[in-house]
Formats: sequence, structure tokens, C-alpha cells
Amino acid sequence: MTAYDNDNIFAKILRGEFPCYKVFETDKTLSFLDIMPRAPGHTLVIPKAPARNILDIKPDDFAEVARVSHRIAAAAKKAFNADGVTLQQFSEPAAGQVVYHLHMHIVPRKVGVDMLPPASRKEDPKVLEDHATRLIAALKS
Ligand code: AMP
Repeated sequence: MTAYDNDNIFAKILRGEFPCYKVFETDKTLSFLDIMPRAPGHTLVIPKAPARNILDIKPDDFAEVARVSHRIAAAAKKAFNADGVTLQQFSEPAAGQVVYHLHMHIVPRKVGVDMLPPASRKEDPKVLEDHATRLIAALKS
């Protein structure tokens, strides 16, 4: 398997070298908005440990990603008045992975509204700021 690349964009976000719309942080994870959301509120949960994807992450680190994803999913449903939530995790190019630091996608869904295709468009920063504020509030309530 290909080795972990320390220069991937999520590694840079973890080191503070690149900004993100942070919504939640634990000792072992960071959660932030996807800047090309497939639906409003699309959030990514990543481990702080350097893992390329599901094929090399340590089980305990993945368990923490799952635990936090469970919490974010409930908050996202509330914050975005969603009817449901889609969770996705892509590992390796054959599965659609394009950023090589493990991440869980959490996408709030509305009945009858399809997700946009991946990387359709960059969201307006003001919209992302508003969505982060809403999600942070829902996580606190
Ligand atoms: P994938 O590797 O296909 O599971 O998806 C990578 C995801 O990362 C895509 O949904 C991108 O929109 C998202 N993405 C790429 N760069 C950034 C970034 N700097 N901040 C937040 N999300 C990003």
C-alpha cells in the first residue's frame, strides 16, 4: 500500500498550515466543513493520527472517528433541518478517494434532493461561516 503523504491537504490543516471551517475537535479527531459541499452542512471528520484510509488506520483511531461522526450526524440533522444523513468513507482511487488522509463524510439530506456530484463547486465563504456557526450551536445544545 502507498505510504502516508505528510503533505496532503488535511495533514496541513491538522498542522495549522492551511485554514478550515472547524466545527468540533477532540484529542484524536478534527471535524470541519467540506469546502465543496455535496449538500448544505457537509462535514468531514478526520483522525489526528496519520492514516491514509480505512486500510491502514488503527482500529481505536477509527473507533474515535466513528464516535465523533455519530455525534456530528445528529447535530447536522438538527442544524440543517434534514430528513436524513448520509455517511461515506472512500479508500483508494478505485473507491473515489482524492485526499489521502482518512475522512468520514457526513452529509445532511432532504427528501427528494440529490447530493451534488463530488467537487461540483466551492461554496461561498460567508455561507460556510454561517453553516459552521449553526453546526457548532447544534453541537452545544
Ligand atoms: P474524497 O477523498 O473523495 O473522499 O473527498 C475529499 C473531500 O475533501 C472532497 O469532498 C473535497 O470537497 C474535500 N476537500 C478538499 N480540500 C478541502 C479543504 N481544503 N477543506 C475542506 N474540504 C476539502
